[in-house]
Amino acid sequence: MRRPMVAGNWKMYGTRTSVAELIGGLNQQALPAGVDVAVFPVSVHLQQVLDGLAENNIAVGSQNCAFQSEQGALTGEVSPVQLADLGCQFVLVGHSERRSVFGESDRDVCNKFAAVQASGLIPVLCVGETLEQRNAGETLSVVSAQLDAVVGELGVGVFAKAVIAYEPVWAIGTGLTATPQQAQEVHAEIRAQIASKDSVLAESVRILYGGSVKAANAADLFGMPDIDGGLVGGASLNADEFGAICRAAGS
Ligand code: PEP
Repeated sequence: MRRPMVAGNWKMYGTRTSVAELIGGLNQQALPAGVDVAVFPVSVHLQQVLDGLAENNIAVGSQNCAFQSEQGALTGEVSPVQLADLGCQFVLVGHSERRSVFGESDRDVCNKFAAVQASGLIPVLCVGETLEQRNAGETLSVVSAQLDAVVGELGVGVFAKAVIAYEPVWAIGTGLTATPQQAQEVHAEIRAQIASKDSVLAESVRILYGGSVKAANAADLFGMPDIDGGLVGGASLNADEFGAICRAAGS
């Protein structure tokens, strides 16, 4: 039985004042005990969020990190070791905005994934196809190749301590959501790809869906057999909406 997870990606939003309000709102939410909840603020707000949620059962993660775990001469970067030292538990790797806007390749994503695990943190590996790729019938091959870039290099066993997020690029921040059936098809395929190498591991790995998840569509998505929760962007900036999504994952 996989424990559901809901993760909130705050992207590059927030000021100390608005983050304080969001923390206050999250601390008032009745969150289901059976769901792992995590939020991913901007790095300059990590300490504020860690402090503000210390009494709550909400984990904190980083949206990005350096490609090496150790500290070093990499101006402007943050190492996973430093994130661990701060108290973070997760790091997003391969978010589509990192891939498309910052040109991160599958190799970069794989290096970050390995660096995150080397620091004792849990990577949340994001995969997903563009609309053009979906329309060309390439969804499963694109997602499979993104997953294989990590499995081929690091071995399937690394997913014992990782989370996967299927995020169709066309659904991120657009208000368009994959139907539960569309998402389930890809999630099942991801699980099958892992099962082809390790069937026991495949049953335990959590695969989150991301792409315009809201309180109104969360229950239908999370009701699918291979969808183990969500990676939520815009809707996670509203504590009540995010709380409702977390409760949907627990029902
Ligand atoms: C995301 O940023 O990972 C995301 C899924 O965003 P949104 O929920 O706004 O589509």
